[in-house]
Amino acid sequence: MRRGRRWVTAALSCLLLGGCTSAPPDDVGPDRESREAVDDGAAPWPDRPVVDLRFETSRDLGRVAGRELVEFTPDLEICELVFRAWPNKPVTAQEGTLLTVSQVRVDGRAAAFLDVAAGASQDTPAGTLVEVPLADCVDAGETVTAELTFALELGEEVDERVGTSPDAEVAWLATAFPLLAWERGRGWQRGPAVPVNGETAVSEDFRLDSLEVVAPDGYEVLGTGEAGGTEDRPDGTTVHRFSAPAVRDVAVAVGDLDVVERTINGVRVRVGLDREVEQADADDWLDQIAESTRDLIDLLGPFPYDDLWVVVLSSQTSGIEFPGAIQFGDVDPDYRRGLVTHELAHMWFYGLVGNDQGQHPWLDESFATFAQSVADGDELSLTRLPVEVAPPVGGSMLYWASNFQRPNSTYFDTVYTIGGAALVEARTRAGAEAFDAALADYLAANAHSVATPNDVREAFNDLPDVLDVLREVGALP
Ligand SMILES: [Zn+2]
Repeated sequence: MRRGRRWVTAALSCLLLGGCTSAPPDDVGPDRESREAVDDGAAPWPDRPVVDLRFETSRDLGRVAGRELVEFTPDLEICELVFRAWPNKPVTAQEGTLLTVSQVRVDGRAAAFLDVAAGASQDTPAGTLVEVPLADCVDAGETVTAELTFALELGEEVDERVGTSPDAEVAWLATAFPLLAWERGRGWQRGPAVPVNGETAVSEDFRLDSLEVVAPDGYEVLGTGEAGGTEDRPDGTTVHRFSAPAVRDVAVAVGDLDVVERTINGVRVRVGLDREVEQADADDWLDQIAESTRDLIDLLGPFPYDDLWVVVLSSQTSGIEFPGAIQFGDVDPDYRRGLVTHELAHMWFYGLVGNDQGQHPWLDESFATFAQSVADGDELSLTRLPVEVAPPVGGSMLYWASNFQRPNSTYFDTVYTIGGAALVEARTRAGAEAFDAALADYLAANAHSVATPNDVREAFNDLPDVLDVLREVGALP
């Protein structure tokens, strides 16, 4: 285990010493090879991975025992399996959260695996990559099955996607399992975690065949996908079941939550507030979600999920998006309407149309900021922003982490604000009707896949004004 981790750490150091901190971001250069063999249209990949996931929380909600079964039919030959352990990235690990894999079985047989740092801090006991060499390579179209046993330790009061709060009696688990790191037509994605606030994950849709959350009796559980009922066990715990046809991540919350359900535009929306939340009640949240969703549907088309699960956590300060699920901090949803609409916009940009959040963060953040601005009628004007002196919107997370004194604010000011304003400006120059039609084409053509900047270029190819603006701000090369 140690050897593999050291090897990759050394490789990353070479990359950094080789000058990547002073080079332009790699995603402003030519795009990676275009995706092949991906169907047009909105259907999920028929051969998408099938995942069975189980979380069993400790009585104090401080630890989780996990098990994951993945059936994977790659579209290219593979000689290893690669999973991401995103809870071990610096911003969550430094708060005491840790994901460790203890056992891997491949096609029913015990398999050795490597624990690789890939951006994890030196003092974090486990890395962000789990590599499983296969005894025999697997051809495209063949199915391989992996079973992983893992454990989570949850940091307290973490202002991030995985943590626990003893005061509020709640635990939240998002991207909190070994996430298959495959991209169709491209292969394994091993991009490093970076010490910047923001998402770095990439994942294709999978069928969440079953999600089981075992929690102490009396606790509410918010899941991902459709609720499949509960079952009381004699040991004082309850099994909560969920499933989803096509999601690229999973988010769960367990605890003493005040949960209210409302159907909004045909979507079953559950909002759960932890007991320390003070700024608003569940109905306030549902009212704002209804308003924001209605305006986004007008702009972007039908809501991508049948179910939406929203947890409001006293430990958090902002919002984090997952497919059909959102974590919000304890804010006033009316006053922070922009935040609510932004996170909901991610259901289309990241949920439905995926992207590599580490390599091309603008593909979800600039588009979500744009959609929020248009849906809410906010003014976001490119002409008032320092575009000439700003770094390129198309920078990767490694670029933001490596080149700036204040990477968090530079990343936000550029990718969210300038990137979002550039799309607003592009819509003005091209005309709203033509822009919105091309945007609808982009959503339809890239639904249920992982989009790249090339896909944006293709969708807006007939609108040179749009491509000009995106080049001006360095989103497109
Ligand atoms: Zn966002």
